[in-house]
Amino acid sequence: MCGICGKLSDNYLCTKCRNELFNEAIFGQENYEDKYFENHYYLFKYNGLIREKILDYKFNEKPYLFRTFINFFEFYEKNYFHFNFYDIIMPVPISKKRWNLRGYNQSKLIAVKLSKILNIKLVNNVLIKSINNQPQSTLNFERKRKKC
Ligand SMILES: [Zn+2]
Repeated sequence: MCGICGKLSDNYLCTKCRNELFNEAIFGQENYEDKYFENHYYLFKYNGLIREKILDYKFNEKPYLFRTFINFFEFYEKNYFHFNFYDIIMPVPISKKRWNLRGYNQSKLIAVKLSKILNIKLVNNVLIKSINNQPQSTLNFERKRKKC
């Protein structure tokens, strides 16, 4: 089943929806002058179809959607190049409270698979979520900005 349109499809992403996502894709990179955080590679801006599907993934009990996102990532080999310089993959943790509600860490599902595809070590026990803050997706733009 395609994770986007729900039609029958191998690998959780049909050709039509892959093309639709491709039209939204950016494949961008930001560089930073920071000792611990050198760059940020991203496939999308957080809007449109991908935003809708990420919200669906996080809040509507659809853990299988990680396969749709991974399928998209794998399809475009130019994504791989960026990861030649990465030492580890670290998923963003979620609080215990949220884990109990959701039953999965959406970031970890993707990170585990990426780690296997790219052959980069997964480190999952360094970051700990200590504050159970309000989900970013429920904040309006002004409040998100203040938190940065
Ligand atoms: Zn589809």
